[in-house]
Amino acid sequence: MRRREFLKLGAAAPAALGLGGLARGEESSPSARSAGQARNVIFLVSDGMSQGTLTFADQYLRWRDQRPSHWMALYEDRERRVTRALMDMSSGSSMVTDSAAASSSWGGGHRVDNGRLNVGHGGVEHEPLAAKLRAAGRAVGLVTTTSLTDATPAGFTANARSRREDALIADQYLERDVTLLLGGTGAGFDPERREDGRDHSKIWADAGGEVVRTREDLLAREDGPAKLLGLFAPDHIPYEVDRLHDPDLRREVPSLAEMTRIALARLSGQEGGFFLMVEGGRVDHAAHANDLPALLFDQIAFDDAIGVALDFQNRHPDTLVIVTTDHGNANPGFQSGDVHGARQFERISRIRGSFTEHITRWLGGNRSAGEIRERFADALDFEISGDNAELLAAFARRDYRPAYRRMRRASAVIGQVVANELDFSWIGTAHSADYVELTATGPGAGRIRPFTRNTELHGLVLETMGVG
Ligand SMILES: [Zn+2]
Repeated sequence: MRRREFLKLGAAAPAALGLGGLARGEESSPSARSAGQARNVIFLVSDGMSQGTLTFADQYLRWRDQRPSHWMALYEDRERRVTRALMDMSSGSSMVTDSAAASSSWGGGHRVDNGRLNVGHGGVEHEPLAAKLRAAGRAVGLVTTTSLTDATPAGFTANARSRREDALIADQYLERDVTLLLGGTGAGFDPERREDGRDHSKIWADAGGEVVRTREDLLAREDGPAKLLGLFAPDHIPYEVDRLHDPDLRREVPSLAEMTRIALARLSGQEGGFFLMVEGGRVDHAAHANDLPALLFDQIAFDDAIGVALDFQNRHPDTLVIVTTDHGNANPGFQSGDVHGARQFERISRIRGSFTEHITRWLGGNRSAGEIRERFADALDFEISGDNAELLAAFARRDYRPAYRRMRRASAVIGQVVANELDFSWIGTAHSADYVELTATGPGAGRIRPFTRNTELHGLVLETMGVG
């Protein structure tokens, strides 16, 4: 063949065959079914992550550890082929989605109303990925820092008219034979909080699955069959910043990266390949609460899980890794030219816990400005000015009320005071309509278009895994 013809074919063939997703190592992998097909898919979701959250965590890591976040490092990687896109996350009922509708758009491939899980208008049920993949012999794992039946894992697995139906959702995990579950317990997996008293841990163990409840137990179970249920907190897993600074929590509760590592170790032995969803679920909670340290360290914990997924992909190139978020939330970030960076990061690095756990709950009732300053300094090693303490004292005795209704809760007023200190502020306390960041690498990633509709990922996962 003449060189010119070869070049022509070389340029045309991948597009004609739909092989835009050729990735590093794919051709050399004996287990790749065919080009653009993946044995495994790891789908990572930072719940409620605005663009400012991604930026903040990356800039902080560059300051603290002199390295970018794993997420941003993907964009700087010259070896790895990476697809970057914006995604429209609109739901069936709003431009601003909630996590149930968002997860359903990926899990069931349809836009449903906020609050619903794969149930459309007229009650039509959309079969979720977990059911389709299990029926096709693929393993399915769900790892999250929220309770296991929370909206994001549920959207991949369940059909429910309301995301609050924890018992029904847990039952559907069982019926659909989800292979591995690691996260917080919540009402669905707690027999004492279920009307029928059903004990899923017992059912799981009776069926020959393993059940773990502590970090130590989990880390000791790297080897073994895939069937694993881990329940590490009564509800959601504590904020990472609280876990890091509490020796008991640190001993008892695994990090998201640790859960991800064990999940991958257990699932990688599955014959037909696996789908693993990993959710940094409390980035969203921190954003609702305008809680800077909770937001930062949960986003970093999520980013560490991305690192684990990419390490796995280096060893198993027939793995598609998708990294995204389901919606923005409160759009946080540094503002004003007074921000130096290092000066702010230095103060932030000394904060020893979340505002939610150490300040917000404590602030109710009358507190003097002096008490408030002391509390910030003692509990968190974070000094605030007398003026800012006065503002909080006035709010606590109901003498001060922000104009914007959504900013009137205590956590938001604390967020505004912290913005006075650090020039790090928030536009509200709710989800946003922003198009979201979508990143993918590995076989199939090249099929993602630069501007993607949320529902397209459903077909992409199935097609890439070769499930009809
Ligand atoms: Zn939310």
